[in-house]
Amino acid sequence: MAAKILLVEDSDTQLKFLKEGLVENGFEVETAMNGAEAYKKIFECVPDVVVSDIMMPIIDGYQLCRMIKNVEETKKIPVILLTVLDKKIDSFWGKKAGAQLFLSKSIDINELVRNINATLRRYPLSEEYKISLGQRANAENSAQTRLNTILNDLLLKSVFANEFRNLSDFLNYERILVEKLFSLLSSFVEYSVAGIFFASPDEFAENILYIDTLGRNLCKNVLSDIQYDFFRKMEEYRSFKNTKFEVVRILMGKETDYKFTDLTSKIIIPLIFDKKLIGGICFYTRQDMDYASFRYFDIMISELLAIFKMKYQYTEKEFMSVLDGLTGLYNRRQFEISLEQEHNRSKRHPSDFSLAILDIDFFKKVNDTYGHQYGDYVLKTVANLMKSAFRKTDLLYRYGGEELIMIMPETNIEGAVIPVQRLRRMVEDYDFEYNGVKTKVTVSIGLTMNYQELNTPADILKSADEALYKAKESGRNRVVLYEQQ
Ligand code: GH3
Ligand code: MG
Ligand code: MG
Repeated sequence: MAAKILLVEDSDTQLKFLKEGLVENGFEVETAMNGAEAYKKIFECVPDVVVSDIMMPIIDGYQLCRMIKNVEETKKIPVILLTVLDKKIDSFWGKKAGAQLFLSKSIDINELVRNINATLRRYPLSEEYKISLGQRANAENSAQTRLNTILNDLLLKSVFANEFRNLSDFLNYERILVEKLFSLLSSFVEYSVAGIFFASPDEFAENILYIDTLGRNLCKNVLSDIQYDFFRKMEEYRSFKNTKFEVVRILMGKETDYKFTDLTSKIIIPLIFDKKLIGGICFYTRQDMDYASFRYFDIMISELLAIFKMKYQYTEKEFMSVLDGLTGLYNRRQFEISLEQEHNRSKRHPSDFSLAILDIDFFKKVNDTYGHQYGDYVLKTVANLMKSAFRKTDLLYRYGGEELIMIMPETNIEGAVIPVQRLRRMVEDYDFEYNGVKTKVTVSIGLTMNYQELNTPADILKSADEALYKAKESGRNRVVLYEQQ
C-alpha cells in the first residue's frame, strides 16, 4: 500500500509542483493550503507523514507541528518541515516544535523522496494507531480549539516561568524567598496549609519546614502533625537529624480553626535532583480536592524544581567552600572545624583561647528601611572593620546571617576584651554610606573563653551566646563577658 503524505503548502504553484513529484514517486498525496486545514485533514485522511511549509498564513508550520506533537493521538505522526530560508532560527523552532526533519525547499525532488522514505522507515505508524486516529475526527479537533489550548498552556507556562525565575534574586535570602514562594503559590493553588522545605547539603543543618496558613489561627498541634507527616514522607529519600519548623506569614494563635483530621486533601511532593532530595513542598486543604490532577501542577513542579535546584547548588557551593562569599570571612563549617581543633589543642597543651560572637543591632530594620543590598553592604563593612581590629593570628568567621565570630588563640578574656571593645567602638563611630545613603549601626558582642567548666566546643559557643543575649537585653551596643558559674 502506498504511503500517504499530507502535503501542506500555501502557494498554489509550489503545491502543484511538489504534489506531482511525489505522486510520480508512488506516494498517495493529500493536500492542505494552511495549518488549520491541515490539522482537520489529519483526522480525516490519517497520513503516514506530514510534509509542511513553514511560512503560511493563520497557522504556520511550527504551530501545526506543535499541535500535532502536543497530543497523544497525533504525536507519533512524523513531521517534515520545509522552508526557503535556511536560517538557524528556523531549524531551532522546527526542533522545538518537535519536527522530525527540517529541509530546505530548494532541495530537488529525488532528495526529498529519499528523506521522506527514510523518515517513514524510522517512524512507522502502526495500523491500530491509524485506526484510532481516524475515529477521533470530531469537533473537538478543530484547529482553533487545539491551538487555543496550546497557546493558553504556553502562555501560562511562560508566565509561571517568569514568576518563578524572578525569585532567583533571593536565593541568598531564604526567608524572603520562602515568603515570595508562598505568596506566588497561594495565588493559584487552593490550600489551607502549605509547607516549603529546602534540603541542605549539610546533613547536620537544621531542617526547617516553613509553613503558611494564609493568616489563619492554627493550633500548634496541627502544625506539628503536618511536620511529622511531611518529614515521614521525606525520610523515604533521606534521613534527618535536626528537624524544626517555622511558621511564616502568620503568628500562631491560641484558638484553632480546625484539626489535622479536618485537612482531608493533601499532597506531599519531594523534589529530587540528581538522585538527591533537594527539598519538598506540601499542600493540605479542608476542601475536597484532587491535587494530583490539578491542571497546572506539572508546570508548577518543574518550575519549583528549577528554583530549588539553584538554591541547592548555591548552598552546596557555600557549604563546600572555606570562605563565605559575601564577607570573605571563614564560613560556618570552617568555624565548627576550628573550634573543635582549638578546643582539642587547649586540652593537650593547656592554654587559653577566647571566643566572641557579634550580632548587628536591629539589622532587620536596616534591611527593611534601605533594602537587602544595603544590608549586605553593612554586613560586609562590619566584617572589614573586624578584619582591621584583630591580629593576623585571630580567626574570623561568619557564623550565619549577620552573626560573626572571632576566635582568639592564646588569649584570655582580659586580653580579648581589648580588640573586641575596639571593634564595637569602630562600628559605632563608622559612617556607613552606600549609594549616597548614610546610616549609623551598632553591634552587640558576647565574649567568653575556654573555662574549665565548659567541657565541649558546644558549651563554649553556648556561653558566648548567653553573653550576647545579655548584651542585647541590657541595651545593645555593648560587650558582655560570660560569667562563670
Ligand atoms: P537584634 O538587635 O535583636 O539583633 O535585632 P535584629 O533585627 O538584628 O534581629 P536578628 O538578629 O534576629 O535579625 C537578623 C536579620 O538579619 C534577619 C535577616 O533578615 C537579616 N539577615 C541575615 N543574613 C543576612 C544577609 O546576608 N544579608 C542581609 N542583608 N540581611 C541578612
Ligand atoms: Mg541575628
Ligand atoms: Mg541582629
